[in-house]
Amino acid sequence: MPKLSNRLDWFSESVIRKMTRIANKYGSINLSQGFPDFDPPKAILEGLKEVANKGPHQYSVTWGAQNFREKLALKQEKFMGIHINPDENVLVTCGSTEAMMCAMMSVCNPGDKVIVFSPFYENYTADTILSGAEPIYVELKPPAFNFDKEELRSAFKQNPKALILCNPSNPTGKVFTKEELLYIGSLAKEYDTFVITDEVYEHIIFKPYKHTYLAALEGMFERTISCSSLSKTYSITGWRLGYIIASKEVIENCKKVHDFLTVGAASPLQEAAIKGLEFRDEYYEELNNTYEKKRKLFLDGLDEIGLKYYEPQGAYYVMVDISEFGYDDDYKFCEWLAQEIGVAAVPGSSFFRGNVSNYIRFHFAKKEETLKEALKRLEKLKEYR
Ligand code: GLN
Repeated sequence: MPKLSNRLDWFSESVIRKMTRIANKYGSINLSQGFPDFDPPKAILEGLKEVANKGPHQYSVTWGAQNFREKLALKQEKFMGIHINPDENVLVTCGSTEAMMCAMMSVCNPGDKVIVFSPFYENYTADTILSGAEPIYVELKPPAFNFDKEELRSAFKQNPKALILCNPSNPTGKVFTKEELLYIGSLAKEYDTFVITDEVYEHIIFKPYKHTYLAALEGMFERTISCSSLSKTYSITGWRLGYIIASKEVIENCKKVHDFLTVGAASPLQEAAIKGLEFRDEYYEELNNTYEKKRKLFLDGLDEIGLKYYEPQGAYYVMVDISEFGYDDDYKFCEWLAQEIGVAAVPGSSFFRGNVSNYIRFHFAKKEETLKEALKRLEKLKEYR
């Protein structure tokens, strides 16, 4: 067989998504790949029913249906506090996964460097390599997963084309402070660098933390490519509705990549999801309260079992330290956990640069009864310390 692309030697398939298959194989409770086991809001499901009869069922405009972009621009304008023109500043994509890939391919030339904080959501390494670039990793240090300012400056000194910022952060749940974002922004300006954000957890922030949109900071709109999605906000991860918000010039170029990569996001699903974009502020408050409760329930349970973890400030993940179980391979630990304990987690090493194998990541985007059952099973871990 002829040799396949060399690019593929540099990354493996997604460990997160593989863990879902392992969870299914053993029938374990899936706290690995982050997606809910509860229904999306009723209004959105009703919207879906209507669409079945009324359509649309054919392509929408490649960069997103007009009415979807208009409603999205209105909603984001309110939360982000910046002016968003639906015709110039918005591109609708197949999930934020495509949004990030489009952003990276629009920005990077072969050989360019891209700063990635470590730990990181595993897609970023693949995105970087697939767009011909090379990652420069900057460590986020536990317990608060803060970065060292000088280390970040040294990375910028290598003249990167972009920095990828996941805020709130997957897998750590870190919420970047305004002060940190101002610092990142000042370096981006000084070294003339783009910042590509992944803000899919923008509406899942625990008190007293606050989400700051980098694009809204002074002078940052031109160099920020804000990627996000409807997946987590409306519990519709399977609908694959994401988007990019950026300057007209950036969007024009992202549209080109998107047009040839996927043509467009599913038009019936855009139409049905408009119902969500029209929700009032109470919906987002309620969403946050729901996740506050789930977080408390799950973290209290971990405390009860005596597992050590880092408290998330946002998103719906928690990193648990498994050092005490004596495994030197976190992947093996996760397989054992799925098979013997009946709960699936993601091996932490898939999020880190270098050999870090003492963490696993759970998510708590599940019904309370599912979380309770998972905690009941995890109790057995007490016997293995
Ligand atoms: N963001 C989810 C996670 O980290 C996965 C998303 C996906 O698989 N596309 O688990």
